[in-house]
Amino acid sequence: MTGKKADRQSSATGPEVICPGCGKRLRYSTDNPWRPFCSERCKTIDLGAWASEQYRIAGNDLESAPGDGEPG
Ligand SMILES: [Zn+2]
Repeated sequence: MTGKKADRQSSATGPEVICPGCGKRLRYSTDNPWRPFCSERCKTIDLGAWASEQYRIAGNDLESAPGDGEPG
């Protein structure tokens, strides 16, 4: 028997990443199907941004996103 003991700490915790969608910090875990996003919502938003990104004008400050009237 080899007395080699590797310190494996990759079980529940993972590296901390920043969600490309909202900038929220989260754990990059295989448990998260939306990684590296924090949620499905952010992933969907990012996919949509792909198409609209080409329409983005440089030097345009992004204000608070409108259309926030959906409860829940
Ligand atoms: Zn997010």
